Amino acid sequence: MNKLLIVGTVAFDAIETPFGKTDKILGGAATYIGLSASQFDVESAIVSVVGEDFPQEYLELLKSRNIDLSGTEIVKGGKTFFWSGKYYNDLNTRETLDTQLNVLADFEPVVPEDFKSPDIVMLGNLHPLVQKSVLDQLKRPKLVVLDTMNFWMDNTWDQLVEVIGQVDVVTINDEEARQLSKEHSLIKAAAKIEEMGPKYVVIKKGEHGAMLFHGGKVFFAPALPLDEVFDPTGAGDTFAGGFTGYLAQTGDISFENMKNAVVYGSNLASFCVEKFGTERMQELTSKEVQQRLYGFKALTQFDIKLT
Ligand code: AMP
Repeated sequence: MNKLLIVGTVAFDAIETPFGKTDKILGGAATYIGLSASQFDVESAIVSVVGEDFPQEYLELLKSRNIDLSGTEIVKGGKTFFWSGKYYNDLNTRETLDTQLNVLADFEPVVPEDFKSPDIVMLGNLHPLVQKSVLDQLKRPKLVVLDTMNFWMDNTWDQLVEVIGQVDVVTINDEEARQLSKEHSLIKAAAKIEEMGPKYVVIKKGEHGAMLFHGGKVFFAPALPLDEVFDPTGAGDTFAGGFTGYLAQTGDISFENMKNAVVYGSNLASFCVEKFGTERMQELTSKEVQQRLYGFKALTQFDIKLT
């Protein structure tokens, strides 16, 4: 079985959407990535940090998905990373109300011995110096994928640009792609990001799907139109978990196979948004995942006769 190493936050989130409000629930980029990737036949591990306040039952949940947590440090007396965000009627835009780094502020990641030669690395949203430190501990993996967000662009620009220069794929949302590239057109933005180092760029556009760019080629996958979106939190990370989980399972990192990975990522993200936080991903069955893939195929297939 191929190995997927995941780096990212394991967190407490407080979320407000037009449909309800939660207090401190399980969240974090690595949590969503791990739950999503657990839909595939891969061996995965999360490198992260939590405080002593983090419930054991959340750790057990991740372990029950076959996720190795030996690289997830528990800091004695420390407080877990906390994020709170609010969505307005347009669920595509969110406001961060609070980010408390807590134990993340001084985190020095240690990659477990068993995961020092992973096949795929998913550097989830987290301090770029932590992302870089993890890369420095590895034998060159087949593929390194990085996700980030505006918070790190605003606060740690130079370190972020440095680590982006060392990865193969960047997954990022449309507004963040514009901020990173200083280009409005997403085509130009992707080309600029490719110039920074990565050979592939995935731009996530929420309910408007995702685009994959590589050397002048573009692939687009829509998001599945849903009756109801309840809470978009974690959709991007769930996408990343599906994208890398599928690539790790198949072991094929060609552009053609990355197109399928984009569809798998979009498919899994479509479940994530149906309930608050990680709730939907916790109960998701492989049968539901397969069924919805048929929906995806039907949505995008057409039969124009070209002469
Ligand atoms: P997404 O909706 O996919 O962009 O990711 C939401 C998750 O990202 C939440 O569960 C948060 O805990 C986590 N998060 C929010 N802000 C940050 C940040 N600055 N660094 C790392 N993770 C974050």
